[in-house]
Amino acid sequence: MARFRMYPTSEQVSIMLDHCAHARYVWNLAVEQHSHWSKGRRAAPGFAEQCRQLTEARRENEWLRAGNADVQQQALKDFAKAKNARFTSGFGEPTWRRKYVHEGFRVIGTDRVAEFETDGSPKLNAKGKQVMGRFVVVQKLNRRWAQVKVPGCGWVRFRLSRKGKGACLPAAKTFRVTFRNGQWHIAFAVLPEPIDVPGAGEVIGIDRGVKITAALSDGRKLNCPQLTVRERAQIRKHQRRAARAPKGSEAKTAEYAKVARLKAREADRRKDWCEKTSTMLARAYGLVRFEKLNIKNMTCSAKGTVEQPGKRVRQKAGLNRVILAQSWGLLRQRTEDKAPGRVEDVPAPFTSLRCSACGWIEKKSRKSQADFVCVSCGFTCNADENAANNVAAGQGGFPRPRRSAGAGGVTAATGRSSAREPQPTWVGIPLF
Ligand SMILES: [Zn+2]
Repeated sequence: MARFRMYPTSEQVSIMLDHCAHARYVWNLAVEQHSHWSKGRRAAPGFAEQCRQLTEARRENEWLRAGNADVQQQALKDFAKAKNARFTSGFGEPTWRRKYVHEGFRVIGTDRVAEFETDGSPKLNAKGKQVMGRFVVVQKLNRRWAQVKVPGCGWVRFRLSRKGKGACLPAAKTFRVTFRNGQWHIAFAVLPEPIDVPGAGEVIGIDRGVKITAALSDGRKLNCPQLTVRERAQIRKHQRRAARAPKGSEAKTAEYAKVARLKAREADRRKDWCEKTSTMLARAYGLVRFEKLNIKNMTCSAKGTVEQPGKRVRQKAGLNRVILAQSWGLLRQRTEDKAPGRVEDVPAPFTSLRCSACGWIEKKSRKSQADFVCVSCGFTCNADENAANNVAAGQGGFPRPRRSAGAGGVTAATGRSSAREPQPTWVGIPLF
């Protein structure tokens, strides 16, 4: 995916917002059609049938006809793709798109280019006619700026913010325009080229944590950037001002916009770090091993039910926020994209308690959040590095007999399982 910031003129903005509205309307219609399906009913209409219905709807509705047919049809195509990928994408069933939240639309290229088979012969369809592929029309203006054709808006400019190899114009068949936090972005649908395996083919293990985002088995510790203390204070200030502004006032909207801009900055910083780190991993190592995390389960709420409310709900919510701020999932995903087939998940329930020197698993070895001292062999190491070493070796392990120490002694029974990781009591990020 190649993503750039777009700078449309004010007339183009209003047209593009209409495109967003149409795409959202069509998508939500498709969601509604499919939500009516139940066991025993006929299947909900597929992509081809929905396209036919869209043509009909356009014939009957003036306002829908005023919009761009390609934009509306691509929304259906997106829906069909999302529906097909619902078991593998991690997002589940496609759901409603909301105004101001999910603003965006897909555009299919308008340039028609003859397609060829892999052996060089022209690609023919069932009737023996030449198949014409569609490509996006992009023009480079100068070193910094380029422009792209968006239906109804003519040329829209975007900034070529990438240096080096990424700076050349992407040859994509479609692109997606999004509007989020007051910024327009364009993303071309191109897969990044896989990075070649480096000569040595070294194995690296990565332990992802809250204190240290990614501890590598070679001893390096990488941290995902966050907002500075000052920026967080600014967020709180604007939230406070927004809360005190009169309902529906312009001041309230303006304050919320400032909050959104700061939060967008945080997300941008995180994404940038993930891209750079994953490229580094793919370039430097032959095999990248992550410990298998179920982030969805780790960050589920502690709220409980009305009858049985959970304990320490706010604390868990804070921990969840911190976990999600580490973008563990994105780092793994992007590494996999850049090094396909060279990323492994190590199902390792006890990576942080196993001694990477002798393999002994014991809770008492983990002296604190940071230190690891093996009770069996005396091996001393940073706890995160020890866990990363275990991941690199592809080793988690299985719990040992619980209440016996390694050197023959017996440890006293505790209420908790000895195979449980020490939980962080306080993570050093102020919660707002
Ligand atoms: Zn040991």
